[in-house]
Amino acid sequence: MTRLFAGTPFDIPPECELCGQVESECQCTAADKAAAEQQRDREAARLPPEKQRARVRLEQRKGKRRVTVVEGLSAEANDLPDLLSRLQAACGTGGTVKAKEDLIELQGDHLDTAKSTLKTIGYRV
Ligand SMILES: [Zn+2]
Repeated sequence: MTRLFAGTPFDIPPECELCGQVESECQCTAADKAAAEQQRDREAARLPPEKQRARVRLEQRKGKRRVTVVEGLSAEANDLPDLLSRLQAACGTGGTVKAKEDLIELQGDHLDTAKSTLKTIGYRV
């Protein structure tokens, strides 16, 4: 196939979107490219925090154990594992992501810190 600008200064050889190399030099495998495409799709499904409302509540578990539950943020629209690590760092506690239920759980009572952290990121709480 001849390129539109072949032979002109605008004739830029096609580059791999992944590694930025000219396609003839590109070492990326089909799996790399598929993974990158999936990542792009995931990112395209993300929503800005300002457009989302998070709910934070406390839940009492067996015994006296309390967990702070963040809900209302979907695993599709958010990078929940990343959000979890930010919340864990802010609250100084452990937690888990329950992607199927679209929620994050933090060990202990961290209602205020979780709310203010989410607000700082830009979520409506
Ligand atoms: Zn490449």
